[in-house]
Amino acid sequence: MLREMGVAWPDALPAPPLAAPSPGESAPAAKKALGGPLLAATASAAEPASPMLSQASPPAAGQPSAWEPQLGWDALQSAVSACRRCGLCETRRNTVFGAGHPRAQWMVVGEAPGEQEDRLGQPFVGAAGQLLDRMLGAIGLSRGEQDPAAGGGDAAGADDAAARGQRVFITNTVKCRPPQNRNPDPSELAACEPVLQRQMQLVQPRLVLAMGRFAAQQLLRSAEPIGRLRGRVHRLSAVDTPWAGAQGVPVVVTYHPAYLLRNPIDKAKAWDDLCLALDTWAAQGQA
Ligand code: URA
Repeated sequence: MLREMGVAWPDALPAPPLAAPSPGESAPAAKKALGGPLLAATASAAEPASPMLSQASPPAAGQPSAWEPQLGWDALQSAVSACRRCGLCETRRNTVFGAGHPRAQWMVVGEAPGEQEDRLGQPFVGAAGQLLDRMLGAIGLSRGEQDPAAGGGDAAGADDAAARGQRVFITNTVKCRPPQNRNPDPSELAACEPVLQRQMQLVQPRLVLAMGRFAAQQLLRSAEPIGRLRGRVHRLSAVDTPWAGAQGVPVVVTYHPAYLLRNPIDKAKAWDDLCLALDTWAAQGQA
């Protein structure tokens, strides 16, 4: 367990429960199955006010006020490929739309594509992506290979809930690589935010894992440092995420895998965050 707790992510861990507990049942099964540390914090503890997913930030100058809100996967992906809403379009090689299951119950939001992602057009394919895959694998999740445009929309209705519960959809706050991997600036984040909103409406996740400061602050509309945002369950507005019921979609914040590669000491905290996310997901019951 020491390896899992901070030195390296395990190649394999006991599988998490494939079926979540029935509503009303808490999530001890998930904790037991993982054998991981049990968190004192619960989904109900210290939840801040709901951020408003639909409080769209101002669009870039000269751009339409919002993306067409009804775009399906194909149209959204095409719009992103052609997007010129901010200066990142000048230097990108490829847009990086996102990958994974189009109706995954888990949505992972990172920061921005890096060099390899820009080259391949896929999220998290470099060293940070490999760590991310190991982190997800440690709680029984994978991104799968599905192209969202190939299986989204109504077609995904045929999917069984168990598969959706084991898959993630991965995307970033911005879909184009900032030059030299600099941080995305506020106008770039604002320009790209409607895409993230629409992706969330299409995926309808039951849990969002925000990886790193930019994803956390963007999703939660917060300026708090990541150290203060992690360790508890946040909620998106129930009005904006009606598929999640009265409480809204839970958001769990953790460190970005690139940060963990530089600061392996914090992998133990990231493990705690993953356990919190798994417990929170499981406590909601099966879709
Ligand atoms: N880091 C991110 O935040 N996203 C990627 O896609 C790759 C690295």
